[in-house]
Amino acid sequence: GGTIRFEDVTFAYDPARPILKGVTFEVPAGKSVAIVGPSGAGKSTISRLLFRFYDISGGRITVDGQDIREVTQASLRRAIGMVPQDTVLFNDTIRYNIRYGRWEASDAEVEEAAGLAQIHDFIQRSPAGYETEVGERGLKLSGGEKQRVAIARAILKSPPILVLDEATSALDSHTEREIQEALDRIARDRTAIVIAHRLSTVVNADEIIVLDDGRVAERGTHGELLAKG
Ligand code: ADP
Ligand code: ADP
Repeated sequence: GGTIRFEDVTFAYDPARPILKGVTFEVPAGKSVAIVGPSGAGKSTISRLLFRFYDISGGRITVDGQDIREVTQASLRRAIGMVPQDTVLFNDTIRYNIRYGRWEASDAEVEEAAGLAQIHDFIQRSPAGYETEVGERGLKLSGGEKQRVAIARAILKSPPILVLDEATSALDSHTEREIQEALDRIARDRTAIVIAHRLSTVVNADEIIVLDDGRVAERGTHGELLAKG
């Protein structure tokens, strides 16, 4: 399962200022949809609405055909894993940070998740692998590295649906490529919504939705959107 539908969704934080002005899209189970668009277009708002942090003013959001208004927030959080824009890590080991929330996971599972998220390059600086300390006295991780730790955590939790809000901070092209590869791997057999700031990070999404000023301005594959210019 895991099909998500937004049907003509309208929303405003402040009634005088509509943010989403009738947004319709579907993320079929097991497929990945990327939402791109300028800052302020309403991309992050879409992910907050999926968790029912706010009530929509019109339309409908469903998961597997069920209106999310009929689902508890706790069960939405079980079904949907979130990799937020700014990941805050604990001042503890990377292993601890990956395992957070799934303490029963085996070392092999933690390592597999870390591999999929492609964080071996910096965790292997420590001889004990994942015992590297994060934090003031330990490793200083970049935004992209922190986000990959969060991706590993989300993979380990293995929710049917994953929402990933790509870091806003300018990523260098190497980091961007690594995140893109990590995304491709995790999105492969999962329903995934990737919120991205550039088309270049979402080359392999099954569909890309371009959001502009609260409306879907364009949609298509990466190739189709490039061809349209
Ligand atoms: P994006 O993710 O595309 O950059 P957002 O969804 O974060 O856009 O924000 C869309 C618009 O909603 C912006 O104009 C932003 O200022 C406004 N906004 C976001 N969060 C809130 C909030 N909690 N209260 C009021 N306005 C908000
Ligand atoms: P628990 O289920 O152990 O009580 P939480 O309720 O804190 O843990 O989080 C459950 C899930 O909801 C996690 O996958 C977490 O990433 C997600 N989540 C928690 N807070 C937020 C938030 N503010 N925005 C998006 N996702 C969140």
